[in-house]
This record gives sequence, C-alpha cells and structure tokens, in this order.
Amino acid sequence: MFAKQSTAPGTVYLVGAGPGHPGLITVRGMQCLQRADVVLYDYLVNPIVVEHASASAELVGLGHHKTGRALAPDQITARMLEEARKGRTVVRLKGGDPSVFGRGYDEEDALREAGIPYEIVPGITAGLAVAAYCEIPITHHEEASAVAIITGRERDAKSESHLNCGLADFPGTLIYYMGVRRAEEWSKALLEQGKPPDTPVAIVRWCSRAQQQTVRCTLGTVVEVIAQQEVTPPAVFVVGTVVDRAPQLSWFAARPLISARVLVTGSQGTAEPLRDGLGELGAEVLTRPVIRISDPPDWAPVDAALNQLDQYDWLVFSSANGVDYLFRRLGEIGGDVRRLGEVKIAAIGSGTAERLARYSLRADLVPEHFVAESLARALVTEAAGRRLLLARTNRGRHVLPDELERAGAQVDQVIVYGSVDVKEPDPSVVAALSTGEIDWVTVTSSAIARAVARLYGDALSKTRLASIGPMTSATLRELGYEPAVEATPHTTAGLIDAIVNAGLTRG
Ligand code: SAH
Repeated sequence: MFAKQSTAPGTVYLVGAGPGHPGLITVRGMQCLQRADVVLYDYLVNPIVVEHASASAELVGLGHHKTGRALAPDQITARMLEEARKGRTVVRLKGGDPSVFGRGYDEEDALREAGIPYEIVPGITAGLAVAAYCEIPITHHEEASAVAIITGRERDAKSESHLNCGLADFPGTLIYYMGVRRAEEWSKALLEQGKPPDTPVAIVRWCSRAQQQTVRCTLGTVVEVIAQQEVTPPAVFVVGTVVDRAPQLSWFAARPLISARVLVTGSQGTAEPLRDGLGELGAEVLTRPVIRISDPPDWAPVDAALNQLDQYDWLVFSSANGVDYLFRRLGEIGGDVRRLGEVKIAAIGSGTAERLARYSLRADLVPEHFVAESLARALVTEAAGRRLLLARTNRGRHVLPDELERAGAQVDQVIVYGSVDVKEPDPSVVAALSTGEIDWVTVTSSAIARAVARLYGDALSKTRLASIGPMTSATLRELGYEPAVEATPHTTAGLIDAIVNAGLTRG
C-alpha cells in the first residue's frame, strides 16, 4: 500500500454574519463566504446571508436546540476540523459577532491545537445594532457614558454571578442578551440593588430583520410584558433612560414593506432587480429561482446567425437572459457588438432593454405593454419584407414569430439559451409557505407560474401571489390560483408598487 498522501488543511474562517439584515455582514466576511467550500451556520444567521455563498458550496445549517436537531458544540467543532483536514475552505458563520456570547474561543483553541490555519472576521453584534435599527442612542453625552453587554442567562456554576455585582450603578446603558427566559432573575436583581422600577426598557426582537419587533416597557413591568406579549427569543433588552430618546417609529420600522416576507421566484439571472428593489423597502426576500438557465443544446445555429448578423434588419430579444447569452457567445467566437452594424434592436420590455444597456446598446423599439402581442403589434408595421432574428429560449410562446411571419417578415429563430424547471422545491420554503410565514410570492411569467404551481402547489394557499401582467395572471387562474395583485406597468418596478399598495390597504 502506498502511504496516504496528506493534503494541506484548508483555512477556517470564523465569520460574524451580523444581526440579520443581509447587508450587515462585512466585506471581508462576504469574501470568505464566496470562497468557502463548506459553510456551517447557526440558526441565528439569516439564511439570506448564506445565499451569497458560491453555488457549489455545501451549506450546513446547524439547527437550534429547541428544534431538537442542533449539533452539540463539540460535534460542530469536530465537523469543522474534519472539513478543514480534507483541504476544504470552511466558513463557520455565527450570528452577530463571533466573539460576543458565541463561544468562539473553544473553536479557536481546537483549531490552534490541530494546527489548522484560521482567521476571525468580526460582525455587528445584535445589542449594538439596536442603535441604528431602533435609533436608541446607546451612548448619550448627558445620560449614558458607557454600554454594558450582559448575558441574562448566567450559568449557575459561575462563582461570581453578575446578578449581584452592582450593575444598577453602572453609568450607562445595560444591554441584556439571552434574557427572555430569565427576565425575572436579572430584572429583580437590578431592582433589589436600587435601580428605579420606572427605568425604561426596550425589548428588541429579531433586530434588523423584516420581522423586527420593539416592545417598550419598564424594569418593573418587563416580566409581565414578556408574558402578556408572548415574547420569545431572540431578543435583546436595552435598559436605561436613553430608550425614551428613540422615536416611536425608527427609519427602519417605517419602511413600507417592513415585516413583509417575499419569495422571489423567477428564472436564474433575472431575479436580482426584484430582490434588491423589495429589499430596499424593508422586505425580507428569499430568492429561489424556479427555472434554471443553461447553454442552448447546440451553438452551431447561434454561431451561424452571429456570423451574418448584419444581414438582418431587426434583432429581437424576448428576455434579459437572451441578451446575455447572445452577447457572451459573440465574445467567445471572437466578435463584438460592431457585428451589429445597422441592425435595429427590439426588446420585449424594460428589463430586457436595461440588460442591453449593459452592452452599451439602446433598444430601437420597446413596446408599450411588455408582452409578446404588444411587441408583435409594434413590429408588424416594420416587418413586411424584412429579415428578423429572434433570440429566444428553448421554450416559449409562438405568438411573436407567427404574427411577424403573417405580416410578411422572414423570421429566423435561434435558441440562445435553454431553460429547465427546477425539479425539487426547497423544503424550508415549502415549510415557510405552509405555515403562512411568507406574505408574497412573485410570479413574473407564465412559465414561472407553471413552475411555481408545480413546485409549491397547495402550500400557496396561505400566501398571496403578485403577478407581473395579464398573461401571467391568466396562466395562474388556469392553474387555479387567483393573483392578489397584478403589476401595471408590467415591470419589476410595477410589481414592487403593486405589493406596496396592497400592503398599505391591508385591513
Ligand atoms: N454572537 C451573537 C450573540 C449570540 S447569543 C451577537 O453578537 O449578536 C444569542 C442572543 O443574541 C439571543 O438570545 C439574543 O439575545 C441576541 N440576538 C442575536 N441576534 C439578535 C437579533 N437579530 N435581534 C435581537 N437579539 C439578537
């Protein structure tokens, strides 16, 4: 037998994911995430942050002790070492900052002992994020010259419990983590030490996430309020007079789509503008394309068309993906946009036109309504006796070529990309839909409507469907689903507006 060849161990990055909002991970953290082969993440980490890992990365959710599926800390450490020893790059992603009540030190010790290279990437800890997301001035020149980060769940065995150590005299803001279950103990200790019962308290749940909730009370009422409002973890407790300086509605809580959870379906490569637009308005967006995009079955017809591009009068795009695939291929065969010469360009809608702009191309024609019929109508007057090249996917409707040929055009169709339905639904999305945790599902074409219905079926009954336009709505109805809103205009911006307006008029 040959001796087993030893592989150099991979690096482990202990990364703070921040409090929850997907934008609150550091640039360094994001770099690590994108190069990871495997990501081990805690339940406190927003799964949306994990979506930034590379498509080939293995994503391992470590669960939560309450669901009974959590790995014990030593099992997590063992898994981390095992992956690194295989030479894989590991990201150990923790909520907030890895060093704040994250027991990062145990994992660091193990890595050091095992001789595995590691790096620690800090994150924004939940207790400090309340300053930005709830506008509580945790330090204040008159009222708070210090901040204490305290655990509300002291282990019984700890010899010097903080509960009796004079925190009531601390000259600033007290921020308790893990304090929901033991609120009676820590609040009583503060009261017994002489902290006034009317000291303001803010309970902040899921800080910086769409489901952020802030409940205000006082030190004397906090236990009662937790019981009444059925507050469950994760929450931080901000104790101090500065709480009264926060506005009733912070900039974050005032966003129009705050607390809305949206499932953006769509096809790969076209969901980003919708995801980003909804995210800006405060929604928490899960992105799960239902259609996967791939190379076309055969490049030869595409290459042939590209080699005689200037023979055409019009180049017609019916999707943004078509634009990307055609021009990427043009580059691969050694060409560039100059091949277009005098060819005019038509785009089915504004999203496609915007994608053309990335190649410094302006569409000569974008129809008034972003559907195939409208594009056909707009092109018909131009079409008679002309040669048109239609860049399309392997499936789709025949309205456009049929109408144009009827109008006397010569239409060449090339399949510039393939699209296939995603086969299996993400079980976590099915679970979230079934329990009514997802408020909206976006549906941006008929093909997507069919794929969404097939993947999620009955689970869609507890959510609302937002349709991009009449064709998509008609398909949804055929499938037995009534859209709650329909966008006008039939664009990403129109769809976002429709969701916002529906939210504002909600009962
Ligand atoms: N390392 C984490 C803390 C882990 S301890 C950090 O730096 O934030 C777990 C506790 O953190 C929870 O019980 C809760 O008190 C707090 N916590 C974490 N994320 C939170 C969030 N988004 N909103 C409110 N509290 C949060």
